[in-house]
Amino acid sequence: MSSDMCSSKLQALCHRHVACPSERFAAVSCANGTLSSLLCICLILALLLPARTCISGEEFTARMRVGLSRFASASELTLRAEPGARLLDAQGRERAAGSGPFVLSREGRSVSARDAQGHVLGSVPEGGFWRLQSDEAATVLSLTLGHGAAVHHYRGGLEIGASGGRLRVIDEVGLEDYVRGVIGPEMGSRAPLEALKAQAVASRTFALNSLGHWTTDGYDLRDSTDSQVYSGVEAERPECDRAVRETAGLILTVAGRPISAFFCADCGGVTAPGSTPDECPRSVNDADAHGSAAGPPPPAWTLTFPPHKLATLLGHGVPVGMELMDVAVTETDVSGRVRKLRLTWIPPRPPLPSKGKPSATEKRGASGSVDVALAQGETKKEPPLPPGTILRDVTAVSLRTLVGADTFRSTLFTVSHASADGPFIFEGRGWGHGRGLCQIGAMALALPPRSFDFRAILSRYYAGAKLTPLTSSQEGE
Ligand SMILES: [Zn+2]
Repeated sequence: MSSDMCSSKLQALCHRHVACPSERFAAVSCANGTLSSLLCICLILALLLPARTCISGEEFTARMRVGLSRFASASELTLRAEPGARLLDAQGRERAAGSGPFVLSREGRSVSARDAQGHVLGSVPEGGFWRLQSDEAATVLSLTLGHGAAVHHYRGGLEIGASGGRLRVIDEVGLEDYVRGVIGPEMGSRAPLEALKAQAVASRTFALNSLGHWTTDGYDLRDSTDSQVYSGVEAERPECDRAVRETAGLILTVAGRPISAFFCADCGGVTAPGSTPDECPRSVNDADAHGSAAGPPPPAWTLTFPPHKLATLLGHGVPVGMELMDVAVTETDVSGRVRKLRLTWIPPRPPLPSKGKPSATEKRGASGSVDVALAQGETKKEPPLPPGTILRDVTAVSLRTLVGADTFRSTLFTVSHASADGPFIFEGRGWGHGRGLCQIGAMALALPPRSFDFRAILSRYYAGAKLTPLTSSQEGE
């Protein structure tokens, strides 16, 4: 195993503050088994990750640092702690204690703090942060964005500082508590239990695989779809907590390392492969879970574009007046998802020619073909296109981004164009990138008559990955 395989993870782990073992798990829930599971996670990660010197010689914490983007635009935050916590300044000195409220205000490039009586507690410059933390595992910290605004609750410790003229708010939270705050927003608490358990393992694995991903911003994950949606305590539900508890510490590995456990809302009947067909997660057919065992499900979405409208979207860099004549799929992956499309742009078509007098633009070379300028600057014989035709290659991902990912739902589509002046029609299946666990499919598999358990669901969508039990009791031994 190469030691540079996870250099970013090593950096992320090594830069963390050193805490005594009892502090390390201070914010962990007291749910049965959770504490021992986290201890086991630390132990197994010490074995799994090649950062042995860092872990054994320094400190490893099974805590996730989550950037809370929803507070970035705020200028003032009110913090509370139940039953109580300590407010530390940038040097780690305790400046206040209790339940608060503490008011933190951004003033230019610094953040000042005031206590409940309005006394100024000090100010930390850009790069530093205030930290609200508790030694009590059950402590819940809350953030309010101003008078009358909703209160948001988090476990763990909160860091608040300024960066680039904006607030940077980070929740440093135990891995299991982090997963409790993810499952509901990502799958919904009403999903079948075994699907929720599969989601818990996927989200836990995804989190570990993300360690150090946003190192320059000071955190591992974002609380948005940039990583996975995390809403803290307000997302916790009994059903989701049970799914976390009953899979505590289980992760998916390949060659002993946590995989990139992507998941998607709806794969459309076949999941997308990794960058290579054998990379985990691989492409998996789950048309049966979409109620279409005999073949691919029918198209789930259709988009119709008049040629001029699609030309406006895709015409960047194309000379004014060129007409979009054709859009053709030229490359797909093993799942059938479109990777590349070729756009054919032709010069404006002249009025119908008078009899016996072909127009200049209809003139052909001696061979009857035309030279076509490609996007890469090469030339190619492509009869019978008119002179001045431009061929452009675009990726399906960029097309989807241009139209809008919630409108152009996936890259699992076909495109048709019945006539020169007719509309371009895109018909597709699925919603999202399509990699890894398909949530709609997982929920269907968990229900009768299939009644898959979470292990079978994970085995289906992460074929080739090993579900790694961290303790003998979890192994059922
Ligand atoms: Zn699916």
